[in-house]
Amino acid sequence: MAMHWRAPRGPKLSCKGWQQEGILRLLLNTLDSEVAYRPEEFLVYGSGKAVRDRRSLEEIVRALLDLEDHETLVIQSGRGVAVFPTHPLAPRVIMSTGMLVPRWATWEEFRTLERKGLTIYGQNTAAAWAYVGTQGPLQGTYETFAAVARQHFGGSLAGRWVLTAGLGALGAAQPLAVTMNGGVLLGVEVDGRTLQHLLRKNILDMVAPDLDTALAAVRQAVAERRPLAVGLEGNAGDVYPELVRRGAIPDVVTDLTAAHDPLDGYVPAGLTLDQAARLRERDPEDYVKRSLRTIAVQVQAMLDMARHGAVAFDYGNNLREQAAREGVRDALRIPGFVQAYLRPLLAQGRGPFRWVALSGDPEDIYKIDQWLLEGSAAQDPIASRWLRFARDHLWFQGLPARVCWLDYESRVQFGRLVNEAVAAGRLQAPIAITRDLLDVGAMASPRRETEGMPDGSDPIADWPVLNALLNASGGATLVCLGHGGSVGIGYSIHAGMTVIADGTPAMGERLERILAADAGLGLLRLDRAGYPGAAAPVRRYGIRPVGEDGP
Ligand code: NAD
Repeated sequence: MAMHWRAPRGPKLSCKGWQQEGILRLLLNTLDSEVAYRPEEFLVYGSGKAVRDRRSLEEIVRALLDLEDHETLVIQSGRGVAVFPTHPLAPRVIMSTGMLVPRWATWEEFRTLERKGLTIYGQNTAAAWAYVGTQGPLQGTYETFAAVARQHFGGSLAGRWVLTAGLGALGAAQPLAVTMNGGVLLGVEVDGRTLQHLLRKNILDMVAPDLDTALAAVRQAVAERRPLAVGLEGNAGDVYPELVRRGAIPDVVTDLTAAHDPLDGYVPAGLTLDQAARLRERDPEDYVKRSLRTIAVQVQAMLDMARHGAVAFDYGNNLREQAAREGVRDALRIPGFVQAYLRPLLAQGRGPFRWVALSGDPEDIYKIDQWLLEGSAAQDPIASRWLRFARDHLWFQGLPARVCWLDYESRVQFGRLVNEAVAAGRLQAPIAITRDLLDVGAMASPRRETEGMPDGSDPIADWPVLNALLNASGGATLVCLGHGGSVGIGYSIHAGMTVIADGTPAMGERLERILAADAGLGLLRLDRAGYPGAAAPVRRYGIRPVGEDGP
């Protein structure tokens, strides 16, 4: 039986308060077929699930509908445990997803437990019920390619070509992000249906029937310095080495297949999609072996391209680590995108901050865009350029939402602005304020967010745990801890949070506290790790770094 979920819209409550209602709408929104990859299996993106199964979803929805303002619902890896009496300023939902004792934190152990129905892989924002579709990664991808252009090509990708693979949920952001920066993209994707879908949505300009046609189109666009996004059906493990053989070296090479998960996220070379699906069922061990072998070939080709002058980077999917474990020497020399390109932005407290209009009315989002463009973003070229682009070109998936990398102070001010607008009736309904990861205060991930910390503290995972405890203490509406987001089981520990700005004065106070603490902890973690001065702005919000003299 087909299953369809869609968040309620409008001002009428189904729950007993907006805090509960906001979380219910976000949960159903992550499973909306406009948002989720395979909602019938509860898969949202990057093989991450929102809940364990249908029964868990129904139980959670019932619990949220009944939840009182002084109660907290506890979720263990996508399944409800119980409703506890707490108090009105406590979170309404707390959750822990996919956590394993470190000695057992391997894919093999995880799969055994998953098969027994005891846990789920929740990705960064799938189980946190904060995924809003392709817009989420689009801004991060845009900022990454803008930083690549600044560092290597004088500020623009015009006349340059970027090779990538994997145009799935997150990877689909790459064509827009590259062309927005003026460049040409060749995207290798094993699933032809995905390419046709992106062509229909104008995310790709063309799908080439073969490599020759693709290269001819790329070369012409490069010569004319014209942005172009070309899709090619194929396996990265075949196409990347073939390009090396032909001496067709891109200016930039990366990858966004879901290589963190060699069973469900990557397709081995030499198999059709149907053959791959059958092998995955019949002999998962053989499947994983073949995937890892293909990844090794692909990464070797990326290293060869780098030797011929291409800028190569790992896009946070653990591709290099998988290849290194397969014996590809130098795989870990490929830099990670956070360390290479994003850390200067993160050190300003920026990161994938986002908000969702619970009314379902796009006007609420456009009004906030305008207020920001006239207010805090007016003096902020990064935020204002993005907001204009997003307003004019992006579509909404599910509930209308906006992702924007506001700096630290603008984030805190944002909470006040929105809560007051809800109180004054200038917006149709409350706004959910939430975020993805990348910030080192909320994510410990030595191959991504915390790679190359100056003091060597890359694998220290206290910070995300502290982030979750602090956000719960501050009274965020939903607080969660997760394991394995982006890079897979064993490689990351992270914390998420969502606050529903419902327009009440009590929430106004909570919002300032939570937004200052959430990003502030990341600034303090950077400062402690050897980015001196990163934490300076936290003092404005009454946060007192320990061991330092007063202001
Ligand atoms: P997805 O499963 O939606 O997409 C992966 C795509 O890769 C699919 O379209 C698949 O058909 C294609 N693919 C698989 N094997 C291939 C091969 N050998 N050759 C060519 N194409 C192949 O995954 P997603 O949600 O887009 O995530 C991609 C990766 O990015 C994941 O590993 C995820 O953990 C990671 N990630 C990155 C960021 C970021 O900010 N960069 C953030 C979170 C997660």
